[in-house]
Amino acid sequence: MSPELGAEVTRLREQVATLHSELVRYGLVAWTAGNVSARVPGADLMVIKPSGVSYDDLRPANMIVCDLDGAVVEGDLSPSSDTAAHAYVYRAMPEVGGVVHTHSSYATAWAACGESIPCHLTAQADEFGGEIPVGPFALIGGDDIGKGIVATLSGHRSPAVLMRNHGVFTIGKDARAAVKAAVMCEDVARTAHLARTLGRPVPMAREDIDSLYDRYQNVYGQPGASSATP
Ligand SMILES: [Zn+2]
Repeated sequence: MSPELGAEVTRLREQVATLHSELVRYGLVAWTAGNVSARVPGADLMVIKPSGVSYDDLRPANMIVCDLDGAVVEGDLSPSSDTAAHAYVYRAMPEVGGVVHTHSSYATAWAACGESIPCHLTAQADEFGGEIPVGPFALIGGDDIGKGIVATLSGHRSPAVLMRNHGVFTIGKDARAAVKAAVMCEDVARTAHLARTLGRPVPMAREDIDSLYDRYQNVYGQPGASSATP
């Protein structure tokens, strides 16, 4: 590994370890469930959480570096049991730099019902550009989860998919953007659930959703800063 690549891997080990604490902070994970990964730019590598390690014990040094077939390149522990799904997404979607997986309660309740979250909120239009789609049922282990994620999100505005009977996978241009999508997905899923319990959520016009999405993705935020990662 060249010194430049080594420095990039070191930076991403720190970033991925730190981002895992955001999953805890926002209440998206229980016990050791959930994981964050980052693509190593310019290399066919990713940095991902080790399997079965408590969130309190996650450190830059125990993050695992894998190739994009999921084989361990650096690290003493086994990588996340979802490594194959992350690797599949990186192979199939070159624009993706970060992937997150959680079983966050509200979003996963929609996944349990096999139901996409319809767009009834401006915040959802901003972030997801419409509905948050449901993906197919897939067993863990092989490429089936990755295939389901890619098939659902390719050409879709939403950076989040609700994998049926399972949980949430999000993608982003980097790991931080994917974590943000996971946080916002749970927030939207919770409000959508509350709205359903209160009554019948009011549909939004397609052109209003499009206008909100365009403004948020292209105009919102500080000049020169990406709205996707404020
Ligand atoms: Zn899972």
